Amino acid sequence: MEDRKRKAVVLLSGGLDSMLAARLMIDQGIHVEGINFFTGFCVEGHTHAVRRDRRSRPVRNNALHSAEQLGIRLHIVEVIEEYKDVVLNPRHGYGAHLNPCLDCKAFMVGRARQWMEEHGFDFIVTGEVLGQRPMSQRRDTFPVVARESGAADRLLRPLCAKLLPPTLPERAGWVDRERLLGLSGRNRKPQIAMAGAYGYEYAQPAGGCCFLTDPNYTKKLRDLWGSRGERRYDFDDIMLLKIGRHLRPRPSFKLISGRDEG
Ligand code: SF4
Repeated sequence: MEDRKRKAVVLLSGGLDSMLAARLMIDQGIHVEGINFFTGFCVEGHTHAVRRDRRSRPVRNNALHSAEQLGIRLHIVEVIEEYKDVVLNPRHGYGAHLNPCLDCKAFMVGRARQWMEEHGFDFIVTGEVLGQRPMSQRRDTFPVVARESGAADRLLRPLCAKLLPPTLPERAGWVDRERLLGLSGRNRKPQIAMAGAYGYEYAQPAGGCCFLTDPNYTKKLRDLWGSRGERRYDFDDIMLLKIGRHLRPRPSFKLISGRDEG
């Protein structure tokens, strides 16, 4: 092992997998900091603060909560403008709705690479698990993200690393490959058991990281583009589409009713 303490930036989504990936690195003596990207489509925060039926749950930013439990710093980076090109012109297309997951992953890892270089970090870590998501977490799409982000073999996926070719951090001895995992598929029992062993609280998987996977939301976004005659949006648009029921009785007339008092 080299003597300098190596540094990793972890894409911390607020979900369990990225928290565990960070933890595996901390356990190997790596200096870890988290990064989280605010695209405007994020599920948390806005809706949670507005909807009355969510009041019973604590209002919190799950990425910050993960970082707090890990005892690491978190950098929240706003990418609303840059992210528009990912949403509007995805090179690899959309998933089931308007979710451009593969382009999104490449974009976020690419921004993390930029951050890594600017801050003198050594590698990037994600909580991805092979075969967990149909569009972006496949054996054939992992190299696409590594290539298009520019991260190449400085991208380590500790939860499934043993099923993938060794990356630079493993080959250089910065991390011990034997202590990484070989998880695959959609079964989350191993992660839940690990969370229990570490005593971590975590957000339940909500079916996606953002509103672009939500059929009702994407219907409203398509309707907005249709009524404007062009595919464009501003930050206010995408926030307001999260609120209320949206009906369009006539092409020139939109009716929005509040779902609750908030
Ligand atoms: S669900 Fe949303 S945030 Fe997550 S990878 Fe897909 S497009 Fe990106």
